[in-house]
Amino acid sequence: MNKKDILDILKSPDKSLFKEADKVREEHVGNGVHLRGLIEFSNICKMNCLYCGLQSSNKNVERFRLAKDEILSIAKSGVEAGYKTIVMQSGEDSYFSAKVLCEIISEIKSLDVALTLSLGERTYDEYKAFKDAGADRYLIRIETTDEKLYKKMHPFADFENRKRCLRDLKKIGFETGTGCLVGLPGQTVESLADDILFFKDLDADMIGIGPFISHPDTPLASEPNGDFNLALKVMALTRLILPDINIPATTAMETLKENGRLLALQSGANVVMPNLTDVEHKKLYSIYPNKASADRNEVEVMLKRIGRYVADDFGFRKH
Ligand code: SF4
Repeated sequence: MNKKDILDILKSPDKSLFKEADKVREEHVGNGVHLRGLIEFSNICKMNCLYCGLQSSNKNVERFRLAKDEILSIAKSGVEAGYKTIVMQSGEDSYFSAKVLCEIISEIKSLDVALTLSLGERTYDEYKAFKDAGADRYLIRIETTDEKLYKKMHPFADFENRKRCLRDLKKIGFETGTGCLVGLPGQTVESLADDILFFKDLDADMIGIGPFISHPDTPLASEPNGDFNLALKVMALTRLILPDINIPATTAMETLKENGRLLALQSGANVVMPNLTDVEHKKLYSIYPNKASADRNEVEVMLKRIGRYVADDFGFRKH
């Protein structure tokens, strides 16, 4: 597909794309759904992404940082509950040096589990140290490939450095995840088509698509939320273009629309990321408001209903 083909589909009211993406998903990655257990371990962030409730200039958020032992204990419970992947996610919190993180990574890896990191922008050497310590995957969303919009949305960040991070992660050998927000104020359908082509160029191993959801404590508080169907289309098109990758049914999809997770799983997604963090801290990790939860038992019941099941392998990309 070229940009024009992608644009035609994004602009078309035809919904057959979702069925097609579901078929491609079944053919290439099967009916197993990978559950990744998410640990949100620090909501302290030095960045100021305009859409995010955790931005450093938001003084209304109560900040927390879990201790190493707390993180390890959550990871251990996750593995005991059957999770084959642990995801460590935080704001860009400089307290967690590469040394501290590598200690945590090694200990989690000793539990015989795949480990995904989502810690933001770091240097090549830090990424290399994480890989050497045993981490398997790294998520860092580009959010938008429209450079002008990127700069507007990320006043403290540098677009080129973001792309450098993704290139470094691939080079080092991480399974690399990226993705975009759909519905940012000022975003065009053309730029969403560019986002999809960017995922293809990078040969990303995981793509997370999240509709924009406005947070009351941000400068974008009065902006309308993103369009669920458009986000679903971007996700389904990504499945067609990168048939064998891992695509989560994102929590933002479920937050924006009831049964959004189910619809995503039937339109190309094959991953769900239940949150392992305790309720109090989960509430404080408010990137966007009213974040939906994903109870493991409920997910299992939902999967059964649609002829799917929880996969019991580590869920690496099968090229
Ligand atoms: S999106 Fe990530 S990097 Fe940006 S402010 Fe929020 S937590 Fe920080």
